Amino acid sequence: MAEQALHEYCERLSLQPKDLSTTMWYQFIAQISQQAILQNFPKNAPLTNTRKVNYLSMEFLIGRLLGNNLMSLGVYQDAESLLAKYGQNLVDVLEQERDPSLGNGGLGRLAACYLDSMASLAQPAVGYGLHYQYGLFKQGFGSTGEQRETGDGWNRDFYLQQHHRPELQQTVGFAGEVLHCGDDRYEWQPAWTICGEAFDLPVVGYKGVQQPLRLWQGYSETAFDLAQFNDGDYLLAESKVVDASKLTKVLYPNDNHQEGKELRLMQQYFHCACSIADILREHLAKGRSLQQLPEFEVIQLNDTHPAIAIPELMRVLLDQHQLHWEDAWAICSKTFAYTNHTLLPEALEQWDQPLLAKMLPRHLIIIDRINNELYQQVKAEFSEDEFSQAWQETAVLMNNKVRMANLCVVGSFAVNGVAQIHSDLVVSDLFPAYARLFKGRFHNVTNGITPRRWIRQSNPALSQLLDQHIQGDWTKDLELLRQIEPLAKDPQFQTAYRQIKQQNKQVLAQVIQETIGLKVNENAIFDVQIKRFHEYKRQHLNLLNIIATYQELKANPAQECVPRVFIFAGKAAPGYFMAKQIIQAINGVAKVINSDPDMQGKLQVAFLPDYRVSLAEKIIPAADVSEQISLAGKEASGTGNMKLALNGAITLGTLDGANVEIAEYAGEENVVIFGHTVDSVRQLRTEGYVSKRYYEQDETLRKAIDALADGTFSDGETERFEALVNDMLHHDYFCVLADFASYRQAQQEIAKRYQNQTAWVESTILNTARLGTFSSDRSIRDYQTRIWYKA
Ligand SMILES: *Cc1c(COP(=O)(O)O)cnc(C)c1O
Repeated sequence: MAEQALHEYCERLSLQPKDLSTTMWYQFIAQISQQAILQNFPKNAPLTNTRKVNYLSMEFLIGRLLGNNLMSLGVYQDAESLLAKYGQNLVDVLEQERDPSLGNGGLGRLAACYLDSMASLAQPAVGYGLHYQYGLFKQGFGSTGEQRETGDGWNRDFYLQQHHRPELQQTVGFAGEVLHCGDDRYEWQPAWTICGEAFDLPVVGYKGVQQPLRLWQGYSETAFDLAQFNDGDYLLAESKVVDASKLTKVLYPNDNHQEGKELRLMQQYFHCACSIADILREHLAKGRSLQQLPEFEVIQLNDTHPAIAIPELMRVLLDQHQLHWEDAWAICSKTFAYTNHTLLPEALEQWDQPLLAKMLPRHLIIIDRINNELYQQVKAEFSEDEFSQAWQETAVLMNNKVRMANLCVVGSFAVNGVAQIHSDLVVSDLFPAYARLFKGRFHNVTNGITPRRWIRQSNPALSQLLDQHIQGDWTKDLELLRQIEPLAKDPQFQTAYRQIKQQNKQVLAQVIQETIGLKVNENAIFDVQIKRFHEYKRQHLNLLNIIATYQELKANPAQECVPRVFIFAGKAAPGYFMAKQIIQAINGVAKVINSDPDMQGKLQVAFLPDYRVSLAEKIIPAADVSEQISLAGKEASGTGNMKLALNGAITLGTLDGANVEIAEYAGEENVVIFGHTVDSVRQLRTEGYVSKRYYEQDETLRKAIDALADGTFSDGETERFEALVNDMLHHDYFCVLADFASYRQAQQEIAKRYQNQTAWVESTILNTARLGTFSSDRSIRDYQTRIWYKA
């Protein structure tokens, strides 16, 4: 069958198989995979009367698809042997695919893992997103180590895995006038409209169903000016009427930060309007009534980015279907569920009311009514003394801003955080008044990751070992990993497990050499911090320890030392100055350390550019230490922490996000925890946190910071890291200096533990064995029992 297809493929190209280039092999495999998928796409979940999940997300960081699809279709081995016959390596062929980077980081990757799990569990679902022409920018480094951004045209038009669906086209209105026709009746006359075209990417579940990730694209045929893109003003802030082709041109590159740009609001509305219309079209086509919508459909909002879907559904029910407010609200408020992803004030979306009035005038009227109804409820629930505070907290409209998280809480039947500690903080710190007003609405669903991509596909050697020792298919039931717990002390198993880690480190060493020309010590600890750059994630805390270690080794050349390679990867938002300073500082320190002969084999720093899913797949299986060092209370969950721990890295982390649960499940003796806790940070702030004091009192810390300031790592330029140094000394909002001593001690604990290899390997095996709960299959089951199908 595949042989026949290969024969035909070669005939068309007038080539012999032996003459095919790697790219041609890729195209060939992609074609047969696509045919296999489209033959029975969609392959729906068995018909049930359960709800379908409509997962609305502005981001889906799906990563390369071909290898994943081959595996899910169960033909990976076949493809491998076919290629082997012609002297080709499937892994190399799959490297030809540029990952679609349609997301910034964790939030988008979570959406991708959840689609995989829903398809694998036969949970009926459609993912709704945007078909950006340019995904997240590509990252490179300039001559002084600064981040350089270029556009990521991911070859969308030649991307075989997708499927244009012209029959699903929608039309979306913007701006214009609203006529009040009396009696609660309004008519919106938009000033202009944009067409939305649907592109489906099949999500192929592991031995499961196939269902669409449906991506909407603004339709127009105007060309895109790449020069302007590189100038950074490609987002066209000023123009009143945005032409359709610009609308979905590019993903906004902010992670955990709102920019408040008009075009972004338009993207959000376009995404929601197309998706709501599509959901209703399918629902009504099945002969179901509007009142039955919550019975058959749930709309899960991935953060507040799709919050405008709530007033949009209301608008459609009121203005197009002529429902009364109460009836429309009864439908709406039983259909939406909202996932909160952050407590950071700068990331909580608020839109200027005048912007909404201009761009979405009908929606603002609806939001105003929602706000007024809420006012009555708050009045009724809270005493006169309590009211003012409660209204401050709960109002959807406040100080000329529309607060999107509030809109989501009010308009949803369920709200969840993404790790236990985060869900608790949502209730106690962010929304205490709502928690009292809407009892039973708040839940926790701890994030998870798909074991298909993050173990089976990225770590084939470990997968094989697990296959050998586990009864049953752990890829479908990750709790089965428990079966290897008794083997943690088994010398033979330890050796096998350790050898796999060593092989993976060799492979990564090769990648490092090829990408940045650095030859690393494969016997060193591979200490990994890979994630978006953000001050709260504190890559600069890691950096300060590296500098201090460097200084210590320089001062005591004879000192016994456990060799280390510090590996970084991650992007900063192009407009995030401080994060870019940190990137540049790491590169500056890396340059000095890596070229210092005294550090040979002892200390190295590798910053791999252009962090993305395919790079994560190479780094994670090779990691010994997983840096999860955010300030307690700031990282909602993290998922990188789960990927790394399951692949046998020891977590070096604060009690933040899912680290807390990872420590519980792995056992506290199998992680290294340091730093302030949520409570002690609170106390620190109450007492008045002054970072300078730590600088003054800790000589090691002072010397490290001074070296950043005095030009040691910036070719003698003392200004280069001035902003970073100043921030640490005078602001340090994320308490890096307060956690430095504790972090450094934790790093020494890591070194000590690593020297006892038997105990270390045992610990890493236990991490793999005990963390099956962090499968995204478990997360989806939690959504099913706690939210979607809650009795
Ligand atoms: C998992 C993942 C993330 C999230 O990492 P965190 O450490 O949880 O912030 C970001 N980007 C990519 C490419 C990932 O695979």
